[in-house]
Amino acid sequence: MLHLNKKIFIVLFLFISGFVLATEPVWDANKVILKSEKITSGVYAYYPTNAKELEKKGLAVATSGGFIIGNKGIFLIETMINKRLHKQVQQLIKEASNKRVLYAVNTSFHGDHSYGNMYLNKNTIIIQHQNAKNYIAKHFENDKKFMINTFGKNRGIEEIVPTLPDILIQENSSMSIDLGNRIVEIIDFGFAQTGGDLFIWLPDSKVLWTGNPIITFKPSVPWLLDGHLVETLSSLKKVYAFLPKDAKIIPGHGSIMQKEDLKWHINYLQTIKDEVSKAIKEGLSLEETVKKVSMEEFKGYALFGWVHPKLNIPAAYKDLKKK
Ligand SMILES: [Zn+2]
Repeated sequence: MLHLNKKIFIVLFLFISGFVLATEPVWDANKVILKSEKITSGVYAYYPTNAKELEKKGLAVATSGGFIIGNKGIFLIETMINKRLHKQVQQLIKEASNKRVLYAVNTSFHGDHSYGNMYLNKNTIIIQHQNAKNYIAKHFENDKKFMINTFGKNRGIEEIVPTLPDILIQENSSMSIDLGNRIVEIIDFGFAQTGGDLFIWLPDSKVLWTGNPIITFKPSVPWLLDGHLVETLSSLKKVYAFLPKDAKIIPGHGSIMQKEDLKWHINYLQTIKDEVSKAIKEGLSLEETVKKVSMEEFKGYALFGWVHPKLNIPAAYKDLKKK
C-alpha cells in the first residue's frame, strides 16, 4: 500500500503541483548548505542555511537533524540523502567535538533521513524502527528510483546501498541510550507518517527531534503519505501532551520550534477529521468532500494546493469511512 501511494505521489507531485518543473527537485541536494545551531551545552540542531527564510514563506526546506555530545561519544540524528550532505554533517560535528559518533538514528526510512547511513564510520551503531527496516528490506530499489525521480539524477542517490541497522525499536516502545553523563530517549508515539516513526527526546535539555511528522512551522502541514489520519492525529496529540511547556523541537525540515508551534499541525488534522466526518455523515462522495473541505484558513504552504486536496483529504476520507 505504501508502495502504491508513493507511485501516485511521484506522478501527482511532478505533474499536478504547478510550481515544480518535472526536472526540478523541490530542493537540490547538490546545493544545500547545512549549518548547526547550539541549543545548550553539547546539544546541536542542524538545518539548511536558508531554512528560516524559506519556512516563513511556506517553501520546501531540505532535511534537518542534530547531534548530542555525551561523555562516551556522540549521538547523531539523521544521516541525510547523499554523501555530500552527510559529509557536511560530519564536518559540523568535528567543529563541535573530537569525540566519535557512537550512535546514529533515522527518524524514518525516508531516504533524505537515512541514505547517508552507508557513509558512517563502520563502528557507529545504527538505530532504526523495526518497520523502517522491514520497508527498506522489501522496497529499497523502488524507493531509490522514487527518490531519484523526486530529487533528480546526479544528486548522489544512484550510489546508495542499504545499510542494516544494529538496534531496532519495536511498535509502541521506547529505548534509552546512556552517553555517560546524559540519557537519550528514542520513542515510538504510534503511527505518525510511515508507521516506523521515531522521536528523539533529550530530557536533560528538553529537546525533541520529530522527523517528518512535523515538517516545519506554520504554514507547512502534515503529509498523510501513507494514510492513517486518525492515528496520526492521536500520535501528535500524545507528543504535545508529553512535552513540557518550554521544550524545543527540531522538525524534519526546518529550524528550531516551540511546543505551541505544534498546535497548528494538530488543529489542521483535527479540522480535517471533524469536517470530513461531517461530510461522510451527509453522504457526500470523495469528490464532493474535497470541494467542500477546502480549509482556506490553513492555506499558505507552497505545496498546499496539492497536499491538501490530492493527498490529505482523500486519505482522511478513506480512513474515516472505514471507522
Ligand atoms: Zn524528510
